[in-house]
Amino acid sequence: MERDRAGGTTALDETRKSRAAAGGKKRTGMESWEAYLADIMARTGTRWATLTPIRRTVLELLFRHPRGLKAYDLLALVRAERDNATPPTVYRALDFLMAQGFAHKIGRNSLFVACRHASHQWPSLFLVCPRCRAVTDLQDAALMQTLAATLEAAGFLLDGPEVEISAVCPACGTAKERAENSGRAP
Ligand SMILES: [Zn+2]
Ligand SMILES: [Zn+2]
Repeated sequence: MERDRAGGTTALDETRKSRAAAGGKKRTGMESWEAYLADIMARTGTRWATLTPIRRTVLELLFRHPRGLKAYDLLALVRAERDNATPPTVYRALDFLMAQGFAHKIGRNSLFVACRHASHQWPSLFLVCPRCRAVTDLQDAALMQTLAATLEAAGFLLDGPEVEISAVCPACGTAKERAENSGRAP
């Protein structure tokens, strides 16, 4: 496990470095679908071969909708591209993508999102805005490491790589509101 993680990180770092050297435009390489695919290929190795056309279509749609998609909306979008796609094939593709760590389900809103992490050494923190329902994937390894250690010390294990928190996003919350909330007694 440890070796896989280290390998994945290194491969991605190398990809980023070479991309930065080549173009210098993209900082993370995750902005375009093509770059995202290239990252996946670099970090997953043989798993890439398992991305069948339907799985690739589903992943691309999730990637192009960073706020997440409901299963029903995802199905409609897939069928717009592949009219022979049936609900079971789409759901099987989703199950596969989640099992392989390519996608996540945000249970609070039943939204599916593409994974944008180089590795899952630590769980991901998803902030779900209760007002606009936007999903933000916050990456803070130190925080998640602490959370995992605290749970473990209490005898608990996280049930999956996703941790969800309901939090009002910057676009929905006003500065005044945030100041009030931070001063509020627990
Ligand atoms: Zn992820
Ligand atoms: Zn919001």
